[in-house]
Amino acid sequence: MPQRPDTPVTEARIADVAVDTRHWIGGRRVASTYTFPDVSPIDGRTLAQIARGGPAEAKAAVAAAKAAFPGWAATSRAERARILHAIADGVEKRLEELAIVETTDNGALLRSHRRGVIPRAAHNFRFFADWLLTLGHEDFTTYAGGSAAGPGHTNHVSWDPAGPCVLITPWNAPLMLATWKVAPALAAGDTVILKPAEWSPLTASLLADIAAEAGLPAGVLNVVQGYGAEIGDDLTSHPDVRRISFTGSVPTARRIAASAAQNLTPLSLELGGKSPLLVFADADLELAVDLAVEQFDNAGQVCLAATRILVEESIADEFTHRFVAKASRLKQGDPREETTDLGPTIHPRQTERIDGFVRRAIAAGARAVFGGGSHPQLGGLYYRPTLLTDVAQDSEVVQEEVFGPVLTLQTFADEAEAIRLANNTRFGLAATVATGDHQRAERVTAQLVAGTVWVNCFFVRDLRAPFGGSRLSGVGREGGTWSFDFYCDLKNSVTAPRGFNDHG
Ligand code: NAD
Repeated sequence: MPQRPDTPVTEARIADVAVDTRHWIGGRRVASTYTFPDVSPIDGRTLAQIARGGPAEAKAAVAAAKAAFPGWAATSRAERARILHAIADGVEKRLEELAIVETTDNGALLRSHRRGVIPRAAHNFRFFADWLLTLGHEDFTTYAGGSAAGPGHTNHVSWDPAGPCVLITPWNAPLMLATWKVAPALAAGDTVILKPAEWSPLTASLLADIAAEAGLPAGVLNVVQGYGAEIGDDLTSHPDVRRISFTGSVPTARRIAASAAQNLTPLSLELGGKSPLLVFADADLELAVDLAVEQFDNAGQVCLAATRILVEESIADEFTHRFVAKASRLKQGDPREETTDLGPTIHPRQTERIDGFVRRAIAAGARAVFGGGSHPQLGGLYYRPTLLTDVAQDSEVVQEEVFGPVLTLQTFADEAEAIRLANNTRFGLAATVATGDHQRAERVTAQLVAGTVWVNCFFVRDLRAPFGGSRLSGVGREGGTWSFDFYCDLKNSVTAPRGFNDHG
């Protein structure tokens, strides 16, 4: 139910952290007529009422980003880099607060937030600040025969800021994914309208405070809150928006692409996956089992998760036996506790969706050799890590993204079959190969359809590398130079060899 502001709760209090839950537009907090409740998946507690933006807030945020653009675009690279490092300092200074707020809001492990996810958010700013300073301009002179006007013209290629960017993020790694977009956009000299997911809106609000404290001018970063269906279209169809970067699901991506088509606004889409883990008989079995169990991280709510385990027939029994032994030791519970391995899923709707996949798979003949259903004591949102066998390649649970702690296990007879099964979905985000044979690793990697392939490892992300997916897993690549390719307008200026009055 929409909440009227006469019972306004425009602040979330989590431990000692206060989060202002209004929008951040043009350097000031802005309320909405309506609010919506933000509920913690840990215990179902309502954390706050969040400003519920719509068309008016979308227009105001784009207007603020447009007004701030000329000033920020003209700011020197050195100064932009300095402010980005100051934002990173602010994230690091408030690491503990951000980690607690994020865990309370989305239920992912506190220890992961403390040690990996929030530090990475700070690193996103440092990385793109440094990369900005090394980004070269390219100059070259036209060669004889290369131009009708003759040789000697100078071409100068520059990376120009593009304009206001709409950045839309999901709930599974809110601050990390937001900063992965915000940092390169700001570095490029663009201004930003960030729209975080409605199930985990809080750290985006804190990021606005941190950026302001770091000296980011008003209007350069705007944060609007609300349901995607209510505010999204006014953001993505706005003619003053020059880029849209979206991370989320395929159905939403389709809606955004249709909306962006009105102005042909360039899109970067980082979407879902159904990634395979290929385990060959020559692999280090213990390592392969570790890689498989790791897929339960963040209760399986990870786009890159290798949710389809493909094992060579000859080792399938031994693999399954060791997998079950290892997965049985995972501790499920409160994500704020240091010893917890799996927290809750984000929302009752998500849990129902996950359970629906499992029920339908079992009805179609699958066998849950491990898990299936919610935890008997914790109940509700605490879905047990699950392994399904006897699944058909064309079945729903093998073809569709579950986005929960549910893995399938299939076997293959030889390398060719492994590759055929691995590539046989509509996705192409990532793949993991476990093998002890270097040549096999190269052969298989070359044939896999995936934006990222890991060999005997998982989730290693170097920010210089291109990141993105093929097929339904996305459009475009971000990371390193690829981010600047996206967030900049490349301009080539050609100067004649003579003609200036000063002969300069
Ligand atoms: P979602 O598509 O439901 O929502 C993502 C965002 O889009 C939210 O902020 C939502 O409010 C917004 N939105 C919804 N409708 C909109 C509209 N019409 N216009 C504009 N914005 C709209 O996704 P989710 O459930 O939040 O996230 C889970 C999905 O994200 C999974 O499919 C997962 O694989 C994917 N994901 C991908 C990556 C990646 O890098 N490839 C990373 C994390 C998550």
